[in-house]
Amino acid sequence: MPESAELSTTDQPDIGLGSAPGDTVEVEGVDAIRLQLRSWPEVEAYLRRCRGVIVPLGSTEQHGPTGAIGTDALTAEAVALEVGRRTGVLVTPAQAFGMAEHHLGFAGTVSLQPSTLMAVLHDVVLSLARHGFERVYVINGHGGNIATAKAAFAQAYATATARSLPVASRLRCKLANWFMAPPVMQKARQLYGEREGHHATPSEIALTLHLEPSLIAKQRPLPEPAPPGPIHGPDDFRRRHPDGRMGSDPYLARADHGQTLLELAAAALAADLQTFLAADD
Ligand SMILES: [Zn+2]
Repeated sequence: MPESAELSTTDQPDIGLGSAPGDTVEVEGVDAIRLQLRSWPEVEAYLRRCRGVIVPLGSTEQHGPTGAIGTDALTAEAVALEVGRRTGVLVTPAQAFGMAEHHLGFAGTVSLQPSTLMAVLHDVVLSLARHGFERVYVINGHGGNIATAKAAFAQAYATATARSLPVASRLRCKLANWFMAPPVMQKARQLYGEREGHHATPSEIALTLHLEPSLIAKQRPLPEPAPPGPIHGPDDFRRRHPDGRMGSDPYLARADHGQTLLELAAAALAADLQTFLAADD
Protein backbone atom coordinates (compact mmCIF):
# COMPACT_ATOMS: atom_id res chain seq x y z
CA MET A 1 0.00 0.00 0.00
CA PRO A 2 1.44 3.41 -0.90
CA GLU A 3 2.39 5.88 1.80
CA SER A 4 -0.36 8.19 2.97
CA ALA A 5 -0.06 11.70 1.62
CA GLU A 6 -0.17 14.64 3.97
CA LEU A 7 -3.16 16.82 3.29
CA SER A 8 -2.36 20.46 2.84
CA THR A 9 -3.78 22.78 5.49
CA THR A 10 -4.39 25.56 2.98
CA ASP A 11 -7.87 26.24 1.66
CA GLN A 12 -6.99 24.31 -1.47
CA PRO A 13 -6.14 20.83 -0.24
CA ASP A 14 -3.82 18.67 -2.29
CA ILE A 15 -6.25 16.08 -3.48
CA GLY A 16 -5.68 13.99 -6.53
CA LEU A 17 -2.17 15.34 -6.82
CA GLY A 18 -0.38 14.42 -9.95
CA SER A 19 2.33 16.11 -11.94
CA ALA A 20 1.50 13.94 -14.91
CA PRO A 21 -1.92 12.72 -16.04
CA GLY A 22 -2.70 9.51 -14.23
CA ASP A 23 -0.54 10.23 -11.19
CA THR A 24 -2.60 9.35 -8.16
CA VAL A 25 -1.89 9.45 -4.47
CA GLU A 26 -3.48 7.88 -1.41
CA VAL A 27 -5.19 10.35 0.94
CA GLU A 28 -5.71 10.24 4.71
CA GLY A 29 -9.46 9.67 4.84
CA VAL A 30 -12.46 9.65 2.54
CA ASP A 31 -13.55 13.22 3.39
CA ALA A 32 -10.80 14.67 1.19
CA ILE A 33 -12.15 12.98 -1.92
CA ARG A 34 -15.91 13.47 -1.43
CA LEU A 35 -17.16 15.96 -4.00
CA GLN A 36 -20.03 16.81 -1.64
CA LEU A 37 -17.58 18.24 0.90
CA ARG A 38 -15.53 20.30 -1.56
CA SER A 39 -16.07 23.96 -2.46
CA TRP A 40 -15.99 25.07 -6.09
CA PRO A 41 -12.54 26.70 -5.80
CA GLU A 42 -11.26 23.38 -4.42
CA VAL A 43 -12.73 21.56 -7.41
CA GLU A 44 -11.12 24.09 -9.77
CA ALA A 45 -7.77 23.52 -8.04
CA TYR A 46 -8.23 19.76 -8.27
CA LEU A 47 -8.93 20.00 -12.01
CA ARG A 48 -5.58 21.67 -12.56
CA ARG A 49 -3.96 18.47 -11.29
CA CYS A 50 -6.36 15.64 -12.13
CA ARG A 51 -9.11 15.25 -14.72
CA GLY A 52 -10.54 12.03 -13.29
CA VAL A 53 -13.69 11.52 -11.23
CA ILE A 54 -15.49 8.51 -9.79
CA VAL A 55 -19.29 8.16 -9.93
CA PRO A 56 -20.82 5.43 -7.72
CA LEU A 57 -23.89 3.85 -9.33
CA GLY A 58 -26.24 1.62 -7.37
CA SER A 59 -29.81 0.45 -7.29
CA THR A 60 -32.61 0.50 -4.74
CA GLU A 61 -34.20 -2.91 -5.03
CA GLN A 62 -35.21 -6.05 -3.16
CA HIS A 63 -32.38 -8.39 -2.19
CA GLY A 64 -34.33 -11.40 -0.98
CA PRO A 65 -36.15 -11.69 2.36
CA THR A 66 -33.06 -10.92 4.48
CA GLY A 67 -31.07 -8.50 2.31
CA ALA A 68 -31.18 -4.70 2.45
CA ILE A 69 -33.03 -2.80 -0.27
CA GLY A 70 -30.02 -0.48 -0.52
CA THR A 71 -27.45 -3.25 -1.06
CA ASP A 72 -26.29 -2.19 -4.53
CA ALA A 73 -26.02 1.49 -3.63
CA LEU A 74 -24.29 0.85 -0.28
CA THR A 75 -21.73 -1.46 -1.87
CA ALA A 76 -21.02 0.73 -4.91
CA GLU A 77 -20.51 3.80 -2.72
CA ALA A 78 -18.25 1.97 -0.26
CA VAL A 79 -16.05 0.59 -3.03
CA ALA A 80 -15.97 3.99 -4.74
CA LEU A 81 -14.91 5.82 -1.57
CA GLU A 82 -12.18 3.26 -0.88
CA VAL A 83 -10.92 3.52 -4.47
CA GLY A 84 -11.02 7.31 -4.10
CA ARG A 85 -9.12 7.17 -0.83
CA ARG A 86 -6.43 4.96 -2.36
CA THR A 87 -5.99 7.14 -5.44
CA GLY A 88 -6.97 10.66 -4.35
CA VAL A 89 -9.56 10.81 -7.13
CA LEU A 90 -12.78 12.74 -6.35
CA VAL A 91 -15.99 10.75 -5.78
CA THR A 92 -19.40 12.23 -6.61
CA PRO A 93 -22.51 11.46 -4.54
CA ALA A 94 -23.88 8.00 -5.29
CA GLN A 95 -26.64 7.61 -7.85
CA ALA A 96 -28.71 5.30 -5.64
CA PHE A 97 -31.59 4.65 -8.08
CA GLY A 98 -30.88 2.32 -10.96
CA MET A 99 -32.66 0.23 -13.55
CA ALA A 100 -34.57 -2.33 -11.45
CA GLU A 101 -37.82 -2.74 -13.39
CA HIS A 102 -37.87 -6.52 -12.94
CA HIS A 103 -37.71 -6.16 -9.12
CA LEU A 104 -40.78 -3.94 -8.91
CA GLY A 105 -42.91 -6.91 -7.82
CA PHE A 106 -41.31 -6.58 -4.38
CA ALA A 107 -42.06 -3.82 -1.86
CA GLY A 108 -39.43 -1.16 -1.45
CA THR A 109 -37.93 -1.40 -4.92
CA VAL A 110 -37.58 1.98 -6.63
CA SER A 111 -36.63 1.80 -10.31
CA LEU A 112 -35.69 4.20 -13.06
CA GLN A 113 -36.79 3.17 -16.54
CA PRO A 114 -33.78 2.54 -18.81
CA SER A 115 -34.48 5.79 -20.67
CA THR A 116 -34.59 7.73 -17.39
CA LEU A 117 -31.35 6.25 -16.09
CA MET A 118 -29.72 6.91 -19.44
CA ALA A 119 -30.78 10.56 -19.24
CA VAL A 120 -29.52 10.86 -15.65
CA LEU A 121 -26.09 9.39 -16.41
CA HIS A 122 -25.85 11.41 -19.62
CA ASP A 123 -26.53 14.63 -17.71
CA VAL A 124 -24.07 13.71 -14.94
CA VAL A 125 -21.29 13.08 -17.48
CA LEU A 126 -22.08 16.27 -19.43
CA SER A 127 -22.06 18.36 -16.24
CA LEU A 128 -18.67 16.97 -15.26
CA ALA A 129 -17.29 17.32 -18.80
CA ARG A 130 -18.30 20.97 -18.91
CA HIS A 131 -15.98 21.66 -15.95
CA GLY A 132 -13.12 19.84 -17.65
CA PHE A 133 -13.37 16.32 -16.26
CA GLU A 134 -12.11 14.02 -19.01
CA ARG A 135 -12.18 10.61 -17.33
CA VAL A 136 -15.45 9.50 -15.73
CA TYR A 137 -15.10 6.21 -13.89
CA VAL A 138 -18.48 4.75 -12.91
CA ILE A 139 -18.30 2.15 -10.14
CA ASN A 140 -21.43 0.06 -10.47
CA GLY A 141 -23.11 -2.28 -8.00
CA HIS A 142 -25.95 -3.66 -10.12
CA GLY A 143 -25.88 -5.84 -13.24
CA GLY A 144 -29.18 -4.40 -14.45
CA ASN A 145 -27.50 -1.01 -14.96
CA ILE A 146 -24.81 -2.22 -17.37
CA ALA A 147 -26.55 -1.98 -20.74
CA THR A 148 -28.11 1.38 -19.93
CA ALA A 149 -24.88 2.87 -18.56
CA LYS A 150 -23.02 1.95 -21.73
CA ALA A 151 -25.76 3.47 -23.86
CA ALA A 152 -25.56 6.64 -21.74
CA PHE A 153 -21.83 6.90 -22.41
CA ALA A 154 -22.38 6.70 -26.17
CA GLN A 155 -25.05 9.40 -25.90
CA ALA A 156 -22.75 11.58 -23.77
CA TYR A 157 -19.92 11.38 -26.32
CA ALA A 158 -22.32 12.41 -29.06
CA THR A 159 -23.67 15.35 -27.07
CA ALA A 160 -20.21 16.54 -25.98
CA THR A 161 -19.23 16.65 -29.64
CA ALA A 162 -22.48 18.30 -30.72
CA ARG A 163 -22.04 21.00 -28.05
CA SER A 164 -18.37 21.43 -29.03
CA LEU A 165 -17.23 21.05 -25.44
CA PRO A 166 -13.48 21.66 -25.17
CA VAL A 167 -12.98 18.18 -23.67
CA ALA A 168 -15.14 16.40 -26.28
CA SER A 169 -12.32 14.61 -28.07
CA ARG A 170 -10.66 13.57 -24.81
CA LEU A 171 -13.78 12.54 -22.89
CA ARG A 172 -13.74 8.89 -21.77
CA CYS A 173 -16.24 7.05 -19.60
CA LYS A 174 -15.65 3.62 -18.12
CA LEU A 175 -17.97 1.27 -16.29
CA ALA A 176 -16.38 -0.81 -13.52
CA ASN A 177 -18.64 -3.46 -12.00
CA TRP A 178 -17.00 -4.15 -8.62
CA PHE A 179 -18.68 -7.56 -8.24
CA MET A 180 -17.18 -8.70 -11.57
CA ALA A 181 -13.58 -7.81 -10.73
CA PRO A 182 -11.67 -11.10 -11.19
CA PRO A 183 -10.23 -11.23 -7.62
CA VAL A 184 -13.74 -10.63 -6.22
CA MET A 185 -15.31 -13.37 -8.35
CA GLN A 186 -12.50 -15.75 -7.43
CA LYS A 187 -12.95 -15.09 -3.69
CA ALA A 188 -16.74 -15.44 -3.97
CA ARG A 189 -16.33 -18.78 -5.72
CA GLN A 190 -13.90 -19.93 -3.06
CA LEU A 191 -16.16 -18.84 -0.18
CA TYR A 192 -19.57 -19.80 -1.55
CA GLY A 193 -19.17 -21.97 -4.66
CA GLU A 194 -22.47 -22.45 -6.49
CA ARG A 195 -24.35 -20.86 -3.55
CA GLU A 196 -23.14 -17.46 -4.71
CA GLY A 197 -26.06 -17.46 -7.17
CA HIS A 198 -27.03 -14.45 -9.26
CA HIS A 199 -29.04 -12.09 -7.09
CA ALA A 200 -28.93 -11.29 -3.35
CA THR A 201 -25.57 -13.04 -3.48
CA PRO A 202 -23.70 -13.82 -0.26
CA SER A 203 -20.76 -11.74 -1.49
CA GLU A 204 -22.76 -8.51 -1.84
CA ILE A 205 -24.69 -9.24 1.37
CA ALA A 206 -21.37 -9.85 3.18
CA LEU A 207 -20.18 -6.41 2.13
CA THR A 208 -23.36 -4.82 3.54
CA LEU A 209 -22.89 -6.70 6.83
CA HIS A 210 -19.39 -5.23 7.07
CA LEU A 211 -20.67 -1.72 6.28
CA GLU A 212 -23.89 -1.82 8.32
CA PRO A 213 -23.65 -4.21 11.30
CA SER A 214 -27.34 -3.69 12.13
CA LEU A 215 -28.12 -5.87 9.09
CA ILE A 216 -26.54 -8.93 10.72
CA ALA A 217 -29.64 -9.38 12.93
CA LYS A 218 -31.79 -9.84 9.79
CA GLN A 219 -29.87 -12.88 8.58
CA ARG A 220 -31.41 -16.35 8.99
CA PRO A 221 -31.36 -19.67 7.16
CA LEU A 222 -33.55 -19.64 4.08
CA PRO A 223 -35.17 -22.46 2.08
CA GLU A 224 -33.68 -23.70 -1.18
CA PRO A 225 -33.65 -20.73 -3.61
CA ALA A 226 -35.29 -20.70 -7.01
CA PRO A 227 -32.72 -21.28 -9.75
CA PRO A 228 -31.59 -18.44 -12.02
CA GLY A 229 -33.83 -17.96 -15.04
CA PRO A 230 -34.51 -15.49 -17.79
CA ILE A 231 -35.43 -11.95 -16.76
CA HIS A 232 -38.60 -10.40 -18.17
CA GLY A 233 -41.17 -8.22 -16.38
CA PRO A 234 -41.75 -7.83 -12.63
CA ASP A 235 -44.66 -10.26 -12.33
CA ASP A 236 -42.82 -12.95 -14.26
CA PHE A 237 -39.72 -12.37 -12.13
CA ARG A 238 -41.67 -12.85 -8.91
CA ARG A 239 -43.37 -15.98 -10.27
CA ARG A 240 -39.98 -17.52 -11.10
CA HIS A 241 -38.23 -16.23 -7.97
CA PRO A 242 -40.89 -16.10 -5.22
CA ASP A 243 -38.64 -14.73 -2.45
CA GLY A 244 -36.50 -12.58 -4.75
CA ARG A 245 -33.34 -14.69 -4.72
CA MET A 246 -31.81 -16.25 -7.84
CA GLY A 247 -29.94 -19.36 -6.73
CA SER A 248 -28.15 -17.67 -3.83
CA ASP A 249 -27.69 -18.48 -0.15
CA PRO A 250 -27.09 -15.14 1.57
CA TYR A 251 -26.98 -16.87 4.98
CA LEU A 252 -23.39 -17.84 4.10
CA ALA A 253 -22.41 -14.15 4.22
CA ARG A 254 -20.16 -12.93 7.04
CA ALA A 255 -19.07 -9.38 7.82
CA ASP A 256 -15.38 -10.36 7.71
CA HIS A 257 -15.91 -11.78 4.22
CA GLY A 258 -17.31 -8.40 3.30
CA GLN A 259 -14.21 -6.64 4.55
CA THR A 260 -12.02 -8.95 2.47
CA LEU A 261 -14.20 -8.45 -0.63
CA LEU A 262 -14.08 -4.68 -0.18
CA GLU A 263 -10.27 -4.81 -0.03
CA LEU A 264 -10.09 -6.98 -3.14
CA ALA A 265 -12.55 -4.85 -5.09
CA ALA A 266 -10.86 -1.59 -4.12
CA ALA A 267 -7.38 -2.86 -4.99
CA ALA A 268 -8.50 -4.18 -8.38
CA LEU A 269 -10.48 -1.08 -9.30
CA ALA A 270 -7.84 1.37 -8.03
CA ALA A 271 -5.32 -0.28 -10.37
CA ASP A 272 -7.81 -0.23 -13.23
CA LEU A 273 -8.59 3.44 -12.56
CA GLN A 274 -4.90 4.35 -12.61
CA THR A 275 -4.53 2.67 -16.00
CA PHE A 276 -7.65 4.46 -17.24
CA LEU A 277 -6.33 7.86 -16.09
CA ALA A 278 -2.90 7.30 -17.55
CA ALA A 279 -4.07 6.16 -20.98
CA ASP A 280 -3.88 8.94 -23.55
CA ASP A 281 -5.76 7.28 -26.36
ZN1 LIG B 1 -27.42 -6.48 -5.78
